[in-house]
Amino acid sequence: MTAQLIDGNALSRQLRMEVSQGVANLKAQGITPGLAVILVGDNPASQVYVRNKVKACEDTGMHSVLERHDAGLSQDALLARIEALNEEPSIHGILVQLPLPAHINAQRVIEAISPAKDVDGFHIASAGALMTGMPGFWPCTPFGCMKMLESINYSLQGKHAVVIGRSNIVGKPMALMLLQANATVTICHSGTQNLKALTLQADVIVAAVGKRNVLTADMVKPGAVVLDVGMNRNEAGKLCGDVDFEGVREVASHITPVPGGVGPMTITMLMMNTLLAAQGRLGA
Ligand code: NAP
Repeated sequence: MTAQLIDGNALSRQLRMEVSQGVANLKAQGITPGLAVILVGDNPASQVYVRNKVKACEDTGMHSVLERHDAGLSQDALLARIEALNEEPSIHGILVQLPLPAHINAQRVIEAISPAKDVDGFHIASAGALMTGMPGFWPCTPFGCMKMLESINYSLQGKHAVVIGRSNIVGKPMALMLLQANATVTICHSGTQNLKALTLQADVIVAAVGKRNVLTADMVKPGAVVLDVGMNRNEAGKLCGDVDFEGVREVASHITPVPGGVGPMTITMLMMNTLLAAQGRLGA
């Protein structure tokens, strides 16, 4: 069996058209959805990420503000900026690009963002909402993974999902979203013993580790759906995921490629969350 690709670029294009339509509808009512992106310092990867986020705003017709601050910005000054943006009516979503310089407590900064504008879904109120099944913004990367499963009409009811990775931004929220969709969920991490025995039982596998070839063909049940969140570089410097794509695609029923899989979905879901915030909604 050669797996069907879940094309994150194509799905993103489709969803961004829906977002653009939603933006146009709001504009007709006099509201332009607005996203503020705050970058502290000059981390090269972060610069690319924020540029892409601002461009996605432009493409979907949203207003965006990119605030660039010197790496020496004090935590108090950053908190004051967030306070001001919390009160700013033209801004519906606030995103602080991580990582922050070492002298700034990232969690403290995230907690300063109003939960109504927490379009990254990292605030403890958003995490608590997801945990309890209440309305709240979902973190963009796992939210994108759920949209990818929806795009292939995959019912998670009663399925066994194995999530590899337990970070606060991907693994844990992913597991909670799968649980909310009635999957039986196993969460694996660096201390998990015999990962293969667990992944072989899975109907759905989400790999969110950050290490190449964490998932190989011998670890996948025939017909499983495999979502690859990882972003790594191979020896040639080429972008690749956590999954041995060439091997696993011969066993899985569906698989996301890297690049062109989960990656583009993350910014798309950020646009979706910003639209929802502008509509006065706390998530989907
Ligand atoms: P992270 O915070 O470093 O978490 C990695 C997780 O993997 C940890 O929970 C760790 O376990 C676990 N792990 C490490 N080695 C393992 C092993 N051998 N077997 C099983 N689990 C293992 O990373 P993250 O922020 O979640 O990101 C994960 C990957 O996704 C990275 O490659 C990142 O670049 C990528 N990513 C992509 C997007 C996108 O838009 N496509 C967005 C976010 C992240 P412990 O908890 O025990 O340490």
